Amino acid sequence: MSLLDKATGNFWIDNGLVMLHQVLRGGNLPEDVNSVVQRIVQRIYVETGKTAEYLDSQTQQIKTYKKRNWKEPIGLFISVVDQVPKQKVGDKEYYTRPPEPRIAIQPAGNQRCDFCGEKGKVVSAKLYLFPFVIDPNKFANFYSHARRGLKMCARCAVAGFAAFESWLWRRQGKTFHFFLFHTDLDRLHALHNSLIAQIQLSESTSGGNFEAPFFGEYPFENLFALLLRLFEWLHHREPEGELDPILAELTGACPVAGNPIVIYAISGIDSGKSFSMRALNQFDRFQPFYRLYKSWLEGLAGLSATPPHQALIQVFRQFQHRRQQSTETLWREQICRAILQQADPAPTVERFLYEVSTDTRKPAVYGTREVLHIYLREVMKMDEKLLNILSGFGYHLGSQAADKQEMGLLYALRNAKNLDQFMEVLNQIQFTLGLTINPELLRVEPGERIAGAPWNRVKTLLAIHAMNAYLRKQQGSTTTEGGEQ
Ligand SMILES: [Zn+2]
Repeated sequence: MSLLDKATGNFWIDNGLVMLHQVLRGGNLPEDVNSVVQRIVQRIYVETGKTAEYLDSQTQQIKTYKKRNWKEPIGLFISVVDQVPKQKVGDKEYYTRPPEPRIAIQPAGNQRCDFCGEKGKVVSAKLYLFPFVIDPNKFANFYSHARRGLKMCARCAVAGFAAFESWLWRRQGKTFHFFLFHTDLDRLHALHNSLIAQIQLSESTSGGNFEAPFFGEYPFENLFALLLRLFEWLHHREPEGELDPILAELTGACPVAGNPIVIYAISGIDSGKSFSMRALNQFDRFQPFYRLYKSWLEGLAGLSATPPHQALIQVFRQFQHRRQQSTETLWREQICRAILQQADPAPTVERFLYEVSTDTRKPAVYGTREVLHIYLREVMKMDEKLLNILSGFGYHLGSQAADKQEMGLLYALRNAKNLDQFMEVLNQIQFTLGLTINPELLRVEPGERIAGAPWNRVKTLLAIHAMNAYLRKQQGSTTTEGGEQ
């Protein structure tokens, strides 16, 4: 039986089966699974570039050996220690041989494997065979067996150990983000060859094993960054017709031909010696999100000299704030989360402009309005005409407020808590700044809607465009971002 013949349905073990299939070059798992374990050890237990000394017990000579360690961050999940005898020479103690990781799988008894369901000899799951078997209370549905300890057959155990080479990961300080794809085994195999292996760096950096356009300590911003990286890669190859069927499926050029492709995104903290999982999210909406990505690129093309993908990245990168020693990225996290969950990111953009941008005195970067509008139009189904009225009126409002030093009006607008208060502020704007309000904005409909949209979304967008124009004016910029009608 080929390793790819029978999936377990568990994303970790299935990724491991794909890795094993590669390690064994399509061959079958031999009877002696520990020979395969050793082959995997050789791949992931690597020289650190440092040396140390040991005492050769046969010759009684002190020799040098190259120190090795687990490739980062695999060591977080492996706590196997080698008890090497030591010997004293003078005042100093030496190992009597270089230490080696003693990983061995010794199945015994006759029980059902919790992953593939086969009955036979099993081992108890260890972190280095199944690293995410932690905190079962928090993820009870996901790991329903975790309380009594998981049993694994030899095939699933070796696969579990091989799976470390399949992930994409990022690190920010003590926080780690792991990404694993999942679908049917043959499709996962194809995806590994044509996408994951292409994105993975051959040498990981301290920040991770793929290039991310931005990063932070929260889960959704990192998942979003990974998707942008994947889409950038796919988009480059799409016009040349270089996409395999499995990749064409991600872009929507081919229909889904099997179980949908899912990304599991796991975030957690290095708590001293081990890993403490904080979040587990899934994403499978590749096709609609890729369509949105392409609309963004189209909307940003020609707006400035910056290539559209770069411009898009700058828009998302801006939602962070440096405080003392660290960079807070909570706003970006909330915006990315809203977009990935098809919710409204505008309230967070508003909060960022009023709480951070007023402090840094920086208006939103070029393209912010386009990215927000395209999203609101295509995903939230907002009327384009209304969007243009709001950005046009917001622009005049913000510019006038800057000229007349009326920032308080903008805060009053932002703080409007209900439709009545909002109408009152519009009235005040009319009076104080001498601006005529577009009648569309006064067209209140049943359900507290204005021109077809919820009143608070109208208020939020107006507040965003007004503050942005205010900051731009203050900055003395001559640009007209904000869109004069
Ligand atoms: Zn099994």
